[in-house]
Amino acid sequence: MSDFSKRAPIALTDPTLRKNFRRAMDGLMAKRAAQFPDPEAWRTLRARGAAVRANALAKLPELLQRLEARCRDNGITVHWAETTAEANAIVLGILKAAGATKVIKGKSMVTEEMELNHHLIANGVTPMESDLGEYIIQLAGEAPSHIVMPCIHKNKVEIAHLFDERIEGCGYTEDVDALTAAARKALRGEFAAADAGISGVNFAVAETGTLVLIENEGNGRLSTTLPPLHIAVTGIEKVVENLDDVAPLLALLPRSATGQPITTYVNMISGPRKPDEKDGPTAVHLVLLDNGRSRVYDDAELRDTLRCIRCGACMNHCPVYTRVGGHSYKFVYPGPIGKILTPQIEGLDCAGDQPHASTLCNACVEVCPVEIPIADLLVRLRREAVRPSQSAAVKGGGSRGSLAETLGWAGWKLVYATPWLHRLVTKVMVRVGNLMPASAPLLKQWTGVRTKPRYQGKTLHELARDKGFDNE
Ligand code: SF4
Repeated sequence: MSDFSKRAPIALTDPTLRKNFRRAMDGLMAKRAAQFPDPEAWRTLRARGAAVRANALAKLPELLQRLEARCRDNGITVHWAETTAEANAIVLGILKAAGATKVIKGKSMVTEEMELNHHLIANGVTPMESDLGEYIIQLAGEAPSHIVMPCIHKNKVEIAHLFDERIEGCGYTEDVDALTAAARKALRGEFAAADAGISGVNFAVAETGTLVLIENEGNGRLSTTLPPLHIAVTGIEKVVENLDDVAPLLALLPRSATGQPITTYVNMISGPRKPDEKDGPTAVHLVLLDNGRSRVYDDAELRDTLRCIRCGACMNHCPVYTRVGGHSYKFVYPGPIGKILTPQIEGLDCAGDQPHASTLCNACVEVCPVEIPIADLLVRLRREAVRPSQSAAVKGGGSRGSLAETLGWAGWKLVYATPWLHRLVTKVMVRVGNLMPASAPLLKQWTGVRTKPRYQGKTLHELARDKGFDNE
């Protein structure tokens, strides 16, 4: 169980965490807004992004086959994994076959989903994260708290202490440039020593068999070119039809994610090193992971979830995420996208509380660059959690249903559909409601975090009649 309702209140009482998130999210929101100053241009670009992703999903089976064929033409070995366990076994098998024991990793949320690092370590392979944020949380033994900025929950003082403890010869400094230089120095040797590089994929182009990877630190390029073996791991939904489709997504992703017009590096990987080339890996593998995505795909409404390009803008604007941070969600994908994706991947029996961790304010929907109707999907999942639909698209549907709740809503419906009963119940409630203690079992969930409202002693109809309105 995700226990969001237990973790969130703890996070809310952590002033450092609240401050770190508030400062970071305010900055990201301002930077993103500055990148889209013209509402009309934003709407047009966003509609293009949404259309590209919708088109890719509409043709997903065909595009995946085309991607596999083009990648093979290019010399990339393609593997299919239905589960994370299969994907882990495939990656480990490739590494073992190559005799690799040291791996350098670029940033990849799918490998977080697979818990690949644990699997590698348990099988004698040492993974080293090379993205600065991922490197920091690896040193700290933590999980990412954001899909784009994994260590956004930490401030420079916390990182200074961590580096002082964990990086030999670094010493204590709060100078950001010095901290970055210390990480760079520690990582340089790792790139050179690694037997293999593992990366994610932002977009996989079916037409050309190209793997597009964007990043700011150059670590992605080093991880995918310096070691003799490169393994790219991605979810099956990351495919796009052709190179033209990449352009609007590139115009949307960095601007939505970090408020940059474009990332420092845009890598387009189209195969292993050719005989006349001086660098690059001699073998490239692509692992395509399903892990429940096909099931999501089968439902016409829930399928929109798979449009996501993992920009994180929905998190940066979410009034819940920005206050409780990513670790409160427990799962790899936090915030609004996590609240719709995680229950579909993990099942509502295990993550059924996630869709409820939302005010349905629609802030995420307004900034999503590919127009995912997150609020509608949250409502759909809430419904599935208590009353599963025929499609059985979501594992664990109905697991949050209870007889008490069903009877409660049936009673509510009867009262509101029967005028005389509604009059009677409201008359009684406004007179005796104040006698109910805030700690009464029926009210506790509401009053535990809110002040109990005071009843006026008269119904609205009675108050209106007192003012001279005859409303019966
Ligand atoms: S749901 Fe939309 S806003 Fe959120 S990460 Fe995905 S693409 Fe970005």
